[in-house]
Amino acid sequence: MNVLKVSIVTPDGPVYESEAEMVSTRAETGELGILPGHIPLVAPLEIGAVRLKKADKTEYVAVSGGFLEVRPEKVTILAQSAERAESIDLARAQAAKARAEKYLQAKRDNVDFKRAELALKRAMNRIAVYQNK
Ligand code: ATP
Repeated sequence: MNVLKVSIVTPDGPVYESEAEMVSTRAETGELGILPGHIPLVAPLEIGAVRLKKADKTEYVAVSGGFLEVRPEKVTILAQSAERAESIDLARAQAAKARAEKYLQAKRDNVDFKRAELALKRAMNRIAVYQNK
């Protein structure tokens, strides 16, 4: 058993189905690197990139939080949203980043900072994943 089945699913449907030699991502408790045969695990995910190492390349998927379920032969990620690098709209992510930064700089009482911070994180994550494609 030297590969893992990987499935990344969102409320809109599956975004990624493939096999990988290693899956790395950021859980709330820190970086996780999953190899085939890993003990079963469920962990909440941060906004971040999922790196899928294959024999000849590494693929990147941007995920906006959710859960990771690990079984010895399979990794399933249930995410609020997920985009493969090639389906990211860079201009949209840059516009979302600029909008969030403007909110965060406004320093007005009626600004929802937590919401703007999360929007900024999602946008920066999408830009980073796009640049890795
Ligand atoms: P925006 O402000 O641009 O809508 P957002 O972070 O608020 O960004 P989400 O609510 O996380 O967007 O996602 C809504 C839907 O749009 C999801 O299906 C997500 O995959 C998709 N999406 C968001 N931003 C992008 C992007 N830059 N490129 C491709 N798909 C995107």
